[in-house]
Amino acid sequence: MIFIKLQKFLQQLGYSRRAADKQIFNGKVKVNGKTVTVPWHDVEENDEIFIEGKAHKVKYRKNYVYYVLHKPVGYVTSLKDPKEKMTISKLISKIKEPVKPAGRLDKDVSGVLILTNDGDLINILTHARYGVEKVYIAKVSKRLSKSSIFKIEKGVYNEGEFLKCKKAFIKKLGKNHSIVKVIMTEGKKHEVKRLFKSIGCEVLELKRVSHGPIHISLVPKPGEIKKITGIYLKKLL
Ligand code: URA
Repeated sequence: MIFIKLQKFLQQLGYSRRAADKQIFNGKVKVNGKTVTVPWHDVEENDEIFIEGKAHKVKYRKNYVYYVLHKPVGYVTSLKDPKEKMTISKLISKIKEPVKPAGRLDKDVSGVLILTNDGDLINILTHARYGVEKVYIAKVSKRLSKSSIFKIEKGVYNEGEFLKCKKAFIKKLGKNHSIVKVIMTEGKKHEVKRLFKSIGCEVLELKRVSHGPIHISLVPKPGEIKKITGIYLKKLL
């Protein structure tokens, strides 16, 4: 059986050592339902740690790393693709751990791409069951009406599959185009493009501005990568 210190586990959640100790000493941390006030208390895999209104299962996150990449247009979300020279592996070569992307962005789509070697988190971030929000800004080839926004929020069929967005907001209306903010929670292939296709318009530009708590402002430049730590990691896990 492998044990880790409660303090260490909280650090893995993104708390600083001091903040972790403070929470523990102040009686704000429960282990399997019981308050524990000693930072060096041992916890083991599958123990439930309750802190700040949230329960976390202990996992050995020792070697887990979390990054965010601002994926530029023109790159394929794949680590190896014999037919493609421009894969994201070119952009993430400085990451030493064997990370994988949490979902895909099409080659002509830019924005937030989370990369990690934590398979459980990838599952949470990409599976519809968990309802993690992905926010996109889309430029589409039509001046949209409120009723077409209502349609994509209610749901449409495309290629035999039911698609919907959680919410859509028109940000700008041009003569022959619109800029729309779309919140998705499903994670189906080409979902935003197909959603707009079903109401008769084409997506001209698409950018993912956030995935869960991770926002593009963390990596404002296309191609930029940042390790996710501190409060962002705490929000992500
Ligand atoms: N929806 C799309 O159509 N493409 C993406 O890359 C992401 C969401």
